Parts: sequence; C-alpha cells; structure tokens
Amino acid sequence: MSTYARTTETGFQIPPLIYPTGSLTPIISQTTIEFHYGKHLQTYVDNLNKFVAETEFEGMTLREIISQAPPGPLQNNAGQVLNHLLYFEQFTPSPPGTNRPGGNLKNFIRFDFGNFDTFKKKMEEAATSLFGSGWVWLAQKENGKLNIVSCYNGDTPLRHKMTPLYGIDVWEHAYYLDYQNRRAEHVRKLWEIVDWDMVESRLDI
Ligand code: MN
Repeated sequence: MSTYARTTETGFQIPPLIYPTGSLTPIISQTTIEFHYGKHLQTYVDNLNKFVAETEFEGMTLREIISQAPPGPLQNNAGQVLNHLLYFEQFTPSPPGTNRPGGNLKNFIRFDFGNFDTFKKKMEEAATSLFGSGWVWLAQKENGKLNIVSCYNGDTPLRHKMTPLYGIDVWEHAYYLDYQNRRAEHVRKLWEIVDWDMVESRLDI
C-alpha cells in the first residue's frame, strides 16, 4: 500500500498533501481541501493519538489497529485516518485528457463490471444512496475480485479483509461548501480528477 501515516515517537503524523490545496478547483475548492485535510483529517489524527496513548495499541501500525481495535472511538478514528489518506492521494490536478483506468485495472474492471461506464454508474448509485455519513469504495476481495462496498461512518474495507482502491467520501464535510446538498453532482465531478495510476498501484495482481 502507498503512503500511510507514520508512527513516530510523538504518535501518528500525516504526510504533506501531494498537490497544492487550490489545484483541484473547481471540482474540489481550496476551502474544502483546507478544511477537509487541514482540520477534519487532523482531528482524526489527534484523536487517534489520544486513544492509542498508553494502551496496548501504542506502537502498532494503522493497519494493525484497524483490524484489532474493538468497535468504538479508537476504531472509528483509525479507520477515518486510513480512509482519508487514501482519499487525498487518489486525486491529481493534471489527469490525462481521457481520464480512464488503463492496464491491469482496466482489465479487472472490464472483467468484474463489464465496462468502465457500468462500473461508474454502480459506484455513483451506491454513493448517492448511502444514507447518512460514510464511504463508498471500489475494493478488492482476497480472491482478487473487485466490488463496490458501502461503509458507514469510519468503517473501511480493510476491516472486512478487502483492499480499498478508490473511495468516495460521502460525509457532508467533503462536498457541502462546494455543492451544498448536491451529492450526486459532486460524485460525478470527481471522475475528472481521479489519479488512475495511483488507484491501480493499490491493486493486488
Ligand atoms: Mn472526510
């Protein structure tokens, strides 16, 4: 898996954002990125460090905490840190002209969904129909098969023995400043900034 929060002597720290905060405009505004990455994610990281401190989870990796923590604040915050790191890394300010998956990922999508447009439609339907806060992920099962997974609140495919590949954050904080209640429009627009090379790099082949 790609860049994750690092455990340091002072706890988990998040890496700097890999693109300038205003560079995903107008799909995601600078203000949304600044709040989402700078405030919401930082709060999840601070909470994670607080709930880990002086427990048996201190020194564990994020992955270990997610798979071992009981349901509750530690599990929720650890899941949210992981979800958000993957989320922010999967976008790029400069996608190629026809931004579609290539290589192995293209073949996996074709095999498991028929074609790219069908996959997009299913993902959009799942993201718009998830009631309340959560995530919709393109995820890979242990048998290699791709599927679309709806996760409530801070849940993550990793807890269900699946590898998260591309995730849509449907918490309102991800889109409300830019799209207000228009979640479906936000979800559709995101396709324009997906870094498919990054998504493919998460694939287990
Ligand atoms: Mn979020």
